[in-house]
Amino acid sequence: MLIAVDFDGTIVEHAYPKIGKPIPFAIETLKRLQTVDHHELVLWTAREGELLQDAVDYCHKRGLDFYAVNRNYPEEQPKDGAGRKLTVELFIDDRNLGGLPDWGIIYDMIHNGNALKPVPQEKTLPPRKKSFWQKLFGL
Ligand SMILES: [Mg+2]
Repeated sequence: MLIAVDFDGTIVEHAYPKIGKPIPFAIETLKRLQTVDHHELVLWTAREGELLQDAVDYCHKRGLDFYAVNRNYPEEQPKDGAGRKLTVELFIDDRNLGGLPDWGIIYDMIHNGNALKPVPQEKTLPPRKKSFWQKLFGL
């Protein structure tokens, strides 16, 4: 599977334009997704130029290299004036609806083939308080 991964707030904590503190197990999980599960990873970030290179270098020094950076495949040429559009199958981003899950959960979801399945509601919504009528009638 081709997976896009954000950098700031996802691999490291938000400190843009600096590099934030590592988010626990982000790098380890991504390396495992590549080597054990054979997924291809695209670094997908708003960083450009030197700041983009900082992020690529940060990951490389920790043994994580991407299939492509801010593009669908290594040879893709950015089109002038056209917004970037990725055709990946999955995004890992701290701006997901519901935020960024723990990296252990991310790995489990992808490894077990559940990454695109809906999250059960009971895991996302706080328990509802009983209404007046439910309390009154013992429901
Ligand atoms: Mg982010």
